[in-house]
Amino acid sequence: MIIVIKRGATAESVQCFTALLEKQGIKVHLSEGASQMVLGLVGDTTGIQEKSLLAHHLVEKVIRVQEPYKRANRLFHPDDTRIAVRGLDGETRYIGAGYLGIIAGPCSVETKEQIISVAQSVKQAGAGFLRGGAFKPRTSPYSFQGLGGEGLDLLIEAKRVTGLPIVTELMAIHQLELFDTVDIIQVGARNMQNFTLLKELGSCRKPILLKRGYAATITELLMAAEYIMAGGNDRIILCERGIRTFESYTRNTLDLSAVPILKKQSHLPVIVDPSHATGLSWMVPAMAKAAIAAGADGLILEVHPNPEEALCDGEQSITPDRFAELMKTLQRYAAVEGRILYEESHETP
Ligand code: PEP
Ligand code: MN
Repeated sequence: MIIVIKRGATAESVQCFTALLEKQGIKVHLSEGASQMVLGLVGDTTGIQEKSLLAHHLVEKVIRVQEPYKRANRLFHPDDTRIAVRGLDGETRYIGAGYLGIIAGPCSVETKEQIISVAQSVKQAGAGFLRGGAFKPRTSPYSFQGLGGEGLDLLIEAKRVTGLPIVTELMAIHQLELFDTVDIIQVGARNMQNFTLLKELGSCRKPILLKRGYAATITELLMAAEYIMAGGNDRIILCERGIRTFESYTRNTLDLSAVPILKKQSHLPVIVDPSHATGLSWMVPAMAKAAIAAGADGLILEVHPNPEEALCDGEQSITPDRFAELMKTLQRYAAVEGRILYEESHETP
């Protein structure tokens, strides 16, 4: 249930009203928009009479929310959510609400030279974040599983050298103790409905990059976000990374229509992963551009200095040069739409 508060209401009067509702066992989520306040009610609201709420002098409108996700719902939070992350270089990067967040780096961290050289080149080209897998969810137990803790240390070293915030996947909750210096925690497609993991991340204070499961509906993705938000962590970035269809030319089928749907239904930022969606490096720039045109708040891209020798996902990784070229094009796209891709200071000299 949503209560739209009348314009001009004081914070104190809304606080008193909130306390009154909470006495009835209801959790109240306050969203302060640019011009109006909205109260989101979660819990069993069946006993609450709309008519009696409307009788209150602060109430302008009462809306019953049909969707099963509440905190992730745009009705609860009409303004776009913007995630801010500060790098060790002192610069703050944003994703959402007009800011495009570009996360780039290899599928997996392989060596110190590899991760540092990619980090330097993607930063130079304007990326806001460095990605790199240390714990890898591989389909085959015989494939490279990632360097684990050692990979994480190398990623942290790249963060120290470049100042870029880092994004890496958490596969199991016991790994969390190693993630202190990780800036954004990735929940992979295979773990999107690992509810134990999602619940634990609800009490974590770091932003979560939540990837859509390859057989998950848009509502299921939003319900996964709701799990994390119900625990108190509302810094979530949703990611469309392709779903499984009958098409076999591409690794997955990029469901770009998920972007406007998610943006309509939710206030959370939405990014796209054209690397895993297509599985083919030559298609990545085209789909990256399409994603931004569709309204995505950013991208996560696999970039490798030598894709042919990559230990994981080389066929879908673009080179640093190709990435830099793509960033120049995206900068022009962003300017046309009045969105911010990166500040001028990041531009390649
Ligand atoms: C990844 O980002 O490296 C990854 C494994 O992605 P996904 O979970 O989308 O397959
Ligand atoms: Mn990968």
